[in-house]
Amino acid sequence: LPVQIKCLPVEKEQTLIVVKPDGVQRRLIGQIIQRFEQRGFKLVGLKMLQVSEDLLSQHYCQLTSKPFYPRLMEYMTSGPVVVMVWEGHKVIQSSRMMVGHTNPAEAQAGTVRGDFSLHVSRNVVHASDSLEAALREIQLWFPGKELLNWDCIDQYITCEA
Ligand code: UDP
Repeated sequence: LPVQIKCLPVEKEQTLIVVKPDGVQRRLIGQIIQRFEQRGFKLVGLKMLQVSEDLLSQHYCQLTSKPFYPRLMEYMTSGPVVVMVWEGHKVIQSSRMMVGHTNPAEAQAGTVRGDFSLHVSRNVVHASDSLEAALREIQLWFPGKELLNWDCIDQYITCEA
């Protein structure tokens, strides 16, 4: 019998993920990318860079008054980072779950921070925490037309009619 395939609505979102300098130093880039690929998300932007204090201060503009801010700036500029944009259904919420609690001591095993880190000041990875943050951060790190729009054949969730 012929089977009719229907596409279910998906929320196509994008989020910004940064492998922080400790993640790069510890050669965790591949393992972090693998987790996002195997979950089913699509990579639409990727670059490695030494982040400037100017860009970083814009990225963390809501944290400037925090006592840990100067050390955070020092940490994040201590070496190269890898910054990525991942796309897919509810990717912002899912990424936060995959990355885990800000403080690794409270992060669940199975999350990036829960599996690879010990201390809040060296927590390996950043993930946008809301739609507003994702839009702002992606624009900041990938200005202009740097992101790729490409079709992945398995991006649609399908079901029988
Ligand atoms: N951070 C820190 N000490 C703290 C809280 C945060 O060093 O007490 C750092 C940590 O690297 C964290 C970043 O500041 O990832 C940004 O903090 P935020 O509260 O936005 O957490 P996140 O969104 O990264 O989980």
